[in-house]
Amino acid sequence: MQTKTALITGSTSGIGLGIAKAFAQKGYNIVFNGLEENGVQIAQEVAQEFGVQAFFSGANLLKETEIQQMVTQTYKTFGSIQVLVNNAGIQHVAPIDKFPADKWSLIIGVNLSAAFHTSKAVWQGMKTQKFGRIINISSAHGLRASAFKSAYVSSKHGVIGLTKVLGLEGAVHNITCNAICPGYVRTTLVKGQIADQAKVHQMTPEEVIEKVLLKKHAIKKFVTVEEIGNLALFLASDHAQTITGTSIPMDGGWTAQ
Ligand code: NAD
Repeated sequence: MQTKTALITGSTSGIGLGIAKAFAQKGYNIVFNGLEENGVQIAQEVAQEFGVQAFFSGANLLKETEIQQMVTQTYKTFGSIQVLVNNAGIQHVAPIDKFPADKWSLIIGVNLSAAFHTSKAVWQGMKTQKFGRIINISSAHGLRASAFKSAYVSSKHGVIGLTKVLGLEGAVHNITCNAICPGYVRTTLVKGQIADQAKVHQMTPEEVIEKVLLKKHAIKKFVTVEEIGNLALFLASDHAQTITGTSIPMDGGWTAQ
């Protein structure tokens, strides 16, 4: 049986790394991507730990040409791509009148436009092989809003729109596209937010965790990267072949409210 390949953006940190490890554990070849300087080392370590092949691409997802190069390199190295996970994402917290316009463009670029460019770049290959699984990491903020997150919330709602469209377009080609909508996960991104929110709300970091972040979760726990990795694996499996265009919350009950 041919080894499957998963290309996961933003996979040298946090949720993306958790997803990469989940797929590596199931024997997938992994294409790592991210801006972390130790990307090559991370790819080597995961490959060794799980006995799979992996390489690191430092493609900046704000640049369409670099995305195309990453996809081309993947086809040259592994021959095919079965799973694309659009995970890379950034955040900035500020009231609308103080929200820097360049931050708006950056967030829309990484969180939304990159998912369009990567999906477009893998589409023909998935169509030809009559199989594809695209998994977008949106957020509970793709379904709900919070103050001071205009760009992030807009980008994550946009990702859900893109997911629905690709679900419909992929249906005749056996390509599914779904979004996972996590609640809070304790990663670098959230650690940065705790500091930012502490400033905006004039609270201590502990107060932000209790009164702002986990306040949204009915289950007072952070979601883990392992839980998200396993949901992504399920969406890539044959058991999920009729699930498409959906947005699945994994958020401790946040969006049930
Ligand atoms: P993280 O900061 O740990 O990881 C983000 C990754 O994206 C890093 O590898 C980073 O290098 C990469 N990245 C950022 N800009 C890039 C660019 N221009 N080109 C290439 N790579 C780039 O964050 P995380 O918490 O693991 O977030 C992963 C995804 O999950 C994001 O889309 C985020 O919005 C989403 N999410 C996170 C949470 C949470 O609570 N942490 C909740 C819901 C959704």
